[in-house]
Amino acid sequence: MSIQRRDFLKALGAAGFGTAVSALPGCATTGGGAGGKVVVIGGGYGGATAAKYIRMWSNGGVDVTLVEPNPEFVSCPLSNLVIGGSKQIADVTVSYDNLAKQHGVRIVRDMATGVDPATRIVRLASGKELAYDRLILSPGVDFMWDNVPSLKNADAQARFPHAWKAGAQTVALRNQLTAMADGGVYAISIPVAPYRCPPGPYERACQVAWYFKRAKPKSKVLILDGNGDVTSKGPLFKKAWAEEYKGIVEYRPNHVLTDVDVVARTAKFEVQDSVKADVLNIVPPQRAGAIARSAGVVTANDRWCDVDFLTFESVKVKDVHVLGDAIQIATGMPKSGHMANQHAKVCAAAVVALLSGQAPNPTPVLTNTCYSFITDKEVVHVCSVHQYDREKKTVLPVPGSGGVSSAMSEIEGRYAFNWAKNIWADTLA
Ligand SMILES: Cc1cc2nc3c(=O)[nH]c(=O)nc-3n(C[C@H](O)[C@H](O)[C@H](O)COP(=O)(O)OP(=O)(O)OC[C@H]3O[C@@H](n4cnc5c(N)ncnc54)[C@H](O)[C@@H]3O)c2cc1C
Repeated sequence: MSIQRRDFLKALGAAGFGTAVSALPGCATTGGGAGGKVVVIGGGYGGATAAKYIRMWSNGGVDVTLVEPNPEFVSCPLSNLVIGGSKQIADVTVSYDNLAKQHGVRIVRDMATGVDPATRIVRLASGKELAYDRLILSPGVDFMWDNVPSLKNADAQARFPHAWKAGAQTVALRNQLTAMADGGVYAISIPVAPYRCPPGPYERACQVAWYFKRAKPKSKVLILDGNGDVTSKGPLFKKAWAEEYKGIVEYRPNHVLTDVDVVARTAKFEVQDSVKADVLNIVPPQRAGAIARSAGVVTANDRWCDVDFLTFESVKVKDVHVLGDAIQIATGMPKSGHMANQHAKVCAAAVVALLSGQAPNPTPVLTNTCYSFITDKEVVHVCSVHQYDREKKTVLPVPGSGGVSSAMSEIEGRYAFNWAKNIWADTLA
């Protein structure tokens, strides 16, 4: 480990979810008389963390309303284990109650349908309106169905669950796998990057293979990747497919999806031959959740939201901050739950500072660790550290920081389960 990396890890603390924001002078992590109204849209990894930390760091001074339609938080991290069958959906589901009870976050179970930045009003599906001084958007991703025209309607989407938002779709995909006869084919189509969770599709292929190896040994897993190569932890995944899942998993790069034949259960590609599968898992291309468009903060490729990395405020619309998967990422920054949690803390500290008339921390540091389950217990990880660069005005990977597992192991499996417990507590308890 380099000296630089050791110093950073010391600054970040044992749990790894801290950002260096609270350790630096000049940042408002103790309230400092902050007041005002913050509305947060989206109670996922980014939004729920921001809501909690603004309440904590303002000593309850800032009024925080969280808008989220789902009654419970269902985690995408670990949801591939539900698809593999070693976990149940209840194991990745956490209550929102503590955000209200422990932290005084006002939770509104509703869908935001519009934002008017001129009057600073959020409109809700129920017809109600919420006024804000600062608005935080963490709506995650929406799917670009125009790129998969035959799946544009709800019936077709129900027949081909993407399971790229954990919940009912995760269970539906699991049920398709259990209903499939031994000797069948499961195929996953991966969009061209950037997409939510770079290693997620490869982890999913491993989990389905883990299930087939035990329950349906004549069955196959086909990975139809829109990218030219595995986008994360490539050597580790390829080793697992060649050894642990030899004869079960086949990887095919450069498969850019153009559409699906819904009746024939066939995926069609730009160049490559079509592929028929018994269970066809299409992960469509993605962009920032739709509410970002209404707020006028979509600025990059008509898909993502550019932000000022000191505050996560939109570069285009004042007083509107964007977190998580919806942003235009900086170099080397994955679209991950861990990273959304880190965005949220930098943003929460900055919002509390700004609402109390102070300057935000000028050099925030963010970390990321992504664990991937190869079997039900054996895991690999990749981690990185990112710091704001004042000259370049962006966040850059810290040279010499980060790393990747040398091999899968059960001890990393224990770390991964503890990572999940810790981040759920950090976000929601
Ligand atoms: C299979 C899979 C495995 C993954 N594994 C990992 C992992 O191991 N580690 C990791 O770090 N990351 C992992 N990820 C990625 C992680 O789930 C995302 O990066 C993370 O959820 C992003 O957080 P977010 O806040 O941007 O979005 P989300 O967590 O998706 O939250 C968005 C929330 O906004 C709500 N919402 C959307 N629109 C509105 C609206 N208009 N009004 C009100 N609410 C709205 C949604 O209901 C949702 O609750 C995985 C993802 C997948 C799909």
